[in-house]
Amino acid sequence: MIDRRVSFLAIILLWMILAPGVALATTVVEDVRTWDGPTHTRIVFDLSASPDHRLFTLEEPDRAVIDLSAGRIDPALVEGIRDAGPIRRIRTGRRDEGIRIVLDLDRALEARAFTMAPNENRGHRLVVDLGKDGEKPPVRTAERGGSEPFVVAIDAGHGGRDPGAVGAAGTHEKDIVLTVARKFADRINAISGLEAVLVRDGDYYVGLRDRTRKAREAGADLFVSLHADAFHDRNVRGSSVFVLSRNGASSEMARMLARTENQAHHIGGVSLSDKDEQVASVLVDLSRAHTVEESLDVADVLLAELGSLGEVHGSGVEQAGFAVLKSLDMPSVLVELAFISNPAEERRLNSADYQDQLARGLTQGTRSYVAATRPTLALGGEADQYKVRQGDTLSAIAQRHATSVGALRRANELGGDTIVAGRTLRIP
Ligand SMILES: [Zn+2]
Repeated sequence: MIDRRVSFLAIILLWMILAPGVALATTVVEDVRTWDGPTHTRIVFDLSASPDHRLFTLEEPDRAVIDLSAGRIDPALVEGIRDAGPIRRIRTGRRDEGIRIVLDLDRALEARAFTMAPNENRGHRLVVDLGKDGEKPPVRTAERGGSEPFVVAIDAGHGGRDPGAVGAAGTHEKDIVLTVARKFADRINAISGLEAVLVRDGDYYVGLRDRTRKAREAGADLFVSLHADAFHDRNVRGSSVFVLSRNGASSEMARMLARTENQAHHIGGVSLSDKDEQVASVLVDLSRAHTVEESLDVADVLLAELGSLGEVHGSGVEQAGFAVLKSLDMPSVLVELAFISNPAEERRLNSADYQDQLARGLTQGTRSYVAATRPTLALGGEADQYKVRQGDTLSAIAQRHATSVGALRRANELGGDTIVAGRTLRIP
């Protein structure tokens, strides 16, 4: 009896001595994903256990350093990451009982790190955000639940008595954007974790207030307004993506389009009263510092996808004071699919094949944005495909699709870094 009690105490003592060692389990880095947005670059480390980490930056040369005590990493995971936004490359090395991960940067950047607990879809993660060009990396906001879908409000512009722009061959903007909106919604709804809400689903007019109300009521996380406007110069062509401007329009084109679109809402008989404008601007002030940055992130990936289909008008994402974007307290973009005033584009906009391509590009852009910014959400559905173009690199493709070089290699059974233009890759 006494002997048994002694051995029991011995076990307790032994456990107390060993317990701290048990708590310091090895943290294995299982995958590394990077995403380069306009305001910040994000690196996500998928880990086998909760990390004990430390992050700091060094100068001359500029580096961000992450120490993981009791960490392990296969250097091959980061070897393929080259010139991912401001990250020139990533190096790893042993340090005491753990590892040191060094991000070689092309300039001094603010760095911020946070950990994410596992959910039903993903394990432990360490997320490092690097702010760009004087921007501070975003403060992490509360993530929505892992199982709650990401809702995309798809707003087909115009409708009913407002045809929008009319092409030389008689094509109405309202019809084209509705068709593309429906195709876009079908594709979004085919991906588990994403959900589309059509703000307009028929040939009727929807006022500005009703458009934004519908998006809010649906609990939309993203608002995408689709247009295909006209310009007085019929040679002007290409896709463009706009976000709400804080400092006026970014170009004459942006100013003109904002004016036309804003007038359309008056033509439709529903306009924001002065009071509503004030309410709207308060909402904008409260939310835009946050949502404009997020909107720029979305706009960036959408423009990249549309750019792979054809021409992009102008040099990049443009900003203007679009009323439809003004009262939205969620990331919002306005996409000009093409110019209906250009005869070649009017023809293309009427082709079912081109409409499918546009819907696919919008879906892929949305998917990459969600994958990068809502790491708690596991996106299902068919794996995306990507056709390799001249000059593409694995790391650039991985970055654009918010995946890792390792995952791309595994999904496509690639041995090295060589990829041939024209080959179709599975995007995991
Ligand atoms: Zn329009």
